[in-house]
Amino acid sequence: GEGRPGRQRESTTHCPYCALQCSTVLSGERGGVAVRPSADFPVNRGGLCQKGWTAPSVLAVPDRLLTPLVRGADGVLAPAGWDEALDLVAGRLRELRARHGADAVAVFGGGGLTNEKAYALGKFARVALGTSQIDYNGRFCMSSAAAATTAAFGLDRGLPFPVTDLDGADVILLAGANPAETMPPLLRHLEDADLVVVDPRRTRTAERAALHLSPAPGTDLALALGLLHLAVTEGLVDKEYVDARTTGFDAAWETCAAWWPERVEEVTGVPADDLRTAVRLLGGARRAYVLTGRGAEQHSKGSDTVAAFVNLALALGLPGREGSGFGTLTGQGNGQGGREMGQKADQLPGYRSLADPADRAHVAAVWGVDPRELPGPGRSAYELLDALGGDGGPRALMVFGSNPVVSAPRAAHVTERLKALDLLVVADFVPSETAALADVVLPVAQWAEEEGTLTSLEGRVLRRRAHLTPPPGVRTDLEVLHALAVRLGQDAGRFPVRPREVFDELRRASAGARADYSGISYARLDAGEALYWPCPAGGDGAGHPGTPRLFLDRFAHPDGRARFASVDHRPSAREPDGTFPLYGTTGRVLAQYQSGAQTRRVPELVEAAPETVVEMHPDTARRFGLADGQTAEVGSVHGAALARVRLTRTVRPDTVFVPFHFPGAGRANLFTGDALDPRSRMPEFKVSAVRVTPAGER
Ligand code: SF4
Repeated sequence: GEGRPGRQRESTTHCPYCALQCSTVLSGERGGVAVRPSADFPVNRGGLCQKGWTAPSVLAVPDRLLTPLVRGADGVLAPAGWDEALDLVAGRLRELRARHGADAVAVFGGGGLTNEKAYALGKFARVALGTSQIDYNGRFCMSSAAAATTAAFGLDRGLPFPVTDLDGADVILLAGANPAETMPPLLRHLEDADLVVVDPRRTRTAERAALHLSPAPGTDLALALGLLHLAVTEGLVDKEYVDARTTGFDAAWETCAAWWPERVEEVTGVPADDLRTAVRLLGGARRAYVLTGRGAEQHSKGSDTVAAFVNLALALGLPGREGSGFGTLTGQGNGQGGREMGQKADQLPGYRSLADPADRAHVAAVWGVDPRELPGPGRSAYELLDALGGDGGPRALMVFGSNPVVSAPRAAHVTERLKALDLLVVADFVPSETAALADVVLPVAQWAEEEGTLTSLEGRVLRRRAHLTPPPGVRTDLEVLHALAVRLGQDAGRFPVRPREVFDELRRASAGARADYSGISYARLDAGEALYWPCPAGGDGAGHPGTPRLFLDRFAHPDGRARFASVDHRPSAREPDGTFPLYGTTGRVLAQYQSGAQTRRVPELVEAAPETVVEMHPDTARRFGLADGQTAEVGSVHGAALARVRLTRTVRPDTVFVPFHFPGAGRANLFTGDALDPRSRMPEFKVSAVRVTPAGER
């Protein structure tokens, strides 16, 4: 935002929250910042959701962290100077590393961090700390979709086409996605299509659907197999496409041949006739899309479930065809860029692999280190949290842009692991529930106070701009990483603090990789170019135009063909039984975002969604002696959350729903468990076996 005398200073930027990354214009000074949607950005087209409209409140939260905090001998967090706090952190890190080895120090990042921060964090972990122990909260969000689509297409980009391509669709199948609450402006692109919504709940999205399929939680894999079965038996398979562009159809058919509609109905509870209607709608459409969300992905079989929906899309000939396709609706603000930049346990920037010698050599050269010094892959997010403070596990953890006390599964256990650490350092701009446990809290800048880039769910790289300067006493994450790296003996020049410099370095690190950013620059973005990766550096001076649509000619496997997956249904890790007779499932509501660290500080959003609720069918409430408004305990073998009963007919009588945004005894994650998808290491957030009882009665 460049100031002009006589005119109010305005900054064009993007919303701090979800992966839709609606474009906004900020105006006004600190304490009085106003937001409006920018009219010309094609994704939100002048729309914002309630969270976006109220985002300026986050810049003015009353409990903003303005000074580092250090836990004293009395156990209380007390204000400290930056030098004192940073010296303390660096000293303890050095000491723990010397005593227990480099992997005794771990880093936990976030899918809301800018590309520059995610990149710097991965480099900091592997170069300045020399640890393999880094992962991030995106593991809880995008990992199943990434595993399945990488296997199928050779490359994972949430939407391999622009959001606006959805505008002309005839039919869109949404599996476990509820954009009417999670990203409402997306609905503008779904208006003309017949929606087929797969969701155990009759969500606000399902209300708008031409057809709502409501499978029992954890059975959407069987449902997808049944849809593929019907695509075959109804003669809807695009044989020419399957022959020309794919491999593995026969093996995929072998498993789904046994999923005839009546069997699927028995397992999922979805009427066979509805399955037929769904597949006829999809198969008969001229332009159709299959999209998945967390509902299909957050399972111990999440990657197989996504793979089964990809199989369906491939059989119908949708992916890699203009005007049709398969995609996943990534959740977090930088859910896409965050997974490419090297904060994931197994990855280097640009989707390069820590296990690949050529990838290691490329990135090591950019970082100016010996590739043999780069650590190998580390633990996944939940496994990392589970190992904290235990035998052979990390003794120190540094958390950036995440609040695992609320957002991680099996929250009581994770909280205990965090308490068992020798050193917990949290960088945040508000005193989150995780910061409350820290030994050192570092106050950092937030979205509208610093420059950077994010990559939205459609793979488009966007500029986030500073409208305000950070409050006095606050530093940026890049400044924090720089200061710590220098204290850990690194050359000052190796960890730049200017976002543009970090971006230019990540362009080099990603050059030639699958997620190639080398042709993208701040200058091109600031000139208004719409750049989607891959965007390699062009030799002709004009620059590569970027790649809005992937796979039109070929998929990213060496033979150019997409792969059908051979997957079969299996039960969830823990199905309801006599003691825990109901399905407990978790998710989001319109007025809150993720762990709520930001949105629970916005008055309008608190008013709209103040506390944990447990949504249940009136029959279920009657069965368990509960009434609307009463406080219930929702308990599983892992623990129990307290929540106010809200009666609704939008949930199945065998299921209760609890949003996960709330802290303390209301944490939905108190009852979620530690089952992980074997491929993606995604926890099973969407299915727990629970019982509901009046609070205090057990
Ligand atoms: Fe922000 Fe997402 Fe809402 Fe758009 S849909 S205003 S990006 S939270």
